[in-house]
Amino acid sequence: MVLRELGIRGTDAVFFHSTKRDRVVFVDEVPPGLICPVCDDVFVAPRIAPCGHSLCATCVEKVNKQTGKCFSCSASANPEDFTEDNVSGVQLGDLRVFCRNALGLRQVDDDDGSEGGASASKHGSGGLELFIRLEGFDHTACSAAVRLRELDTHEVTCEFRSLMCDLCDEEGEDEESRPPGKSAAQGGTSALLGADGGGGVCGFTCMTRDMPRHRATCTMRVTNCPFATSGCRWRGSAGRLPAHRASCRKQPRRCPNGCGAYVGVGPMMMRHLDTCSMGEVACDAPDAEERPGDPDPLRCPAVVQRGRLAEHRREQCPWARASKCRQCHVLVSQRSTGEHTSARCASNREPCPNQCGTLVATRELQRHLNQDCDKAVVECPYGPLGCGARTERSKMPGHLTHATGQHLELTRRGLVDAQRRGDELRRVVDSHRREMAAGVEAQRSEAAATLAAKESSIMQGVRELCAHDAEVRAHAAGEVEVLTRAADDQASTLGGQALDMIGALQPPRTCAASSTRSRGTRTVRYRRCGLRWRQTKARRRCSSRR
Ligand SMILES: [Zn+2]
Ligand SMILES: [Zn+2]
Ligand SMILES: [Zn+2]
Ligand SMILES: [Zn+2]
Ligand SMILES: [Zn+2]
Ligand SMILES: [Zn+2]
Ligand SMILES: [Zn+2]
Ligand SMILES: [Zn+2]
Repeated sequence: MVLRELGIRGTDAVFFHSTKRDRVVFVDEVPPGLICPVCDDVFVAPRIAPCGHSLCATCVEKVNKQTGKCFSCSASANPEDFTEDNVSGVQLGDLRVFCRNALGLRQVDDDDGSEGGASASKHGSGGLELFIRLEGFDHTACSAAVRLRELDTHEVTCEFRSLMCDLCDEEGEDEESRPPGKSAAQGGTSALLGADGGGGVCGFTCMTRDMPRHRATCTMRVTNCPFATSGCRWRGSAGRLPAHRASCRKQPRRCPNGCGAYVGVGPMMMRHLDTCSMGEVACDAPDAEERPGDPDPLRCPAVVQRGRLAEHRREQCPWARASKCRQCHVLVSQRSTGEHTSARCASNREPCPNQCGTLVATRELQRHLNQDCDKAVVECPYGPLGCGARTERSKMPGHLTHATGQHLELTRRGLVDAQRRGDELRRVVDSHRREMAAGVEAQRSEAAATLAAKESSIMQGVRELCAHDAEVRAHAAGEVEVLTRAADDQASTLGGQALDMIGALQPPRTCAASSTRSRGTRTVRYRRCGLRWRQTKARRRCSSRR
């Protein structure tokens, strides 16, 4: 809490550092009357005692409260007796001080630590040293010396004030990829809050006067896509532009016609394609010759590159290339020279034989007489109804007007006649129809009779066949009866013979199983074959024969 002297090495300059204040250095020596006797520093909010001595407001609190006397003259004075020292206050405000942006603080290691630099100072306390950066030696130093009362005001606007760049990193979005309803401004806000990955603040610090230059090149400054003219709505931090640019959908594309131009997409590309020299266009050149008989003449259908259209028309186009006819001096397209000579050339035309005043090409003459010539004699269109008028084509409308009544009468008669003939025709048709119906009916009944006769004869045949069939069946049954009887006889004869042969055989020993005897007759039963034999003295007989 003491006013220190700051001397600059190598010069005689001495400045006064108020250690009680935050980095305040006075340019001139401070008058002794403005230095507080208690703290030995320039007054801070001076208060004056009734005896006329002043102290800082804090020093009054600190010293006078304990002693109850003036620090300078020992006159009795209570703290309540001190009043604001306006005179000293005004003088204080007039003292010139350095702008704080001319001052620096630096760490010092030892007594000789303050080396180099534009200025030097006596050491501060705690190893921290305040020094003055003089203009001309340090371009970041403010050279202003202002009144103490204006110090704060000056520092707000001082262009050497340190300022931090507060631009934010903005990711930037394409119009297409932005969710609906979310505007660019909202995107910026979320970037500020760091919600979408961006959001860092630049933080670069420099003097106020250098800030515009920094902001012009700051990587966080918001910039538009360079292809905005092609419709890209991207807006984001300059640092993110290279990444966007590489994937920007609106970046110029090579012209699809292969003209080599790179053109922005969208309307610019459309405009380019409308004028691209490699684009294909139809020649569409009209015929050089006027052709009154052909209201919509063909045009050249050739498709050529736009850049070569002039060349095509000059050197190839049979429509655009034209020359004057030697006979009639009319401009004629190359494609129709022959046609012109034969059909349209004036030198090839002759006056109409009806003297209608028209020049007609020879080959067109018949068509002219049939369709166009005003002097050609034509028949009235009511001729088929009985009008025998014949007059020049140009006069026919007049005849049609004058003879309306006559033509109506002819029409009426024609109608009546047509009706009569219609009735006649109907009668003929009716009689024909009746004849045909009768013929059809006769044919039908005849066919029915034939069918019935055929049916009855078939039925007769069937009955005869049935009778024959029964006869054959009866005959066959008789035959079968005779054969059956003969077979039975033969079978019984053969059976008797066979049994006799079997009886003569000795029954096999292995087969004998049991035998019973009664009244001289022995009956043997064979287990395997199931036969029973009854042996008597007179004769052996098989029991199965009984
Ligand atoms: Zn004081
Ligand atoms: Zn300043
Ligand atoms: Zn910045
Ligand atoms: Zn873009
Ligand atoms: Zn092109
Ligand atoms: Zn052409
Ligand atoms: Zn001609
Ligand atoms: Zn007529």
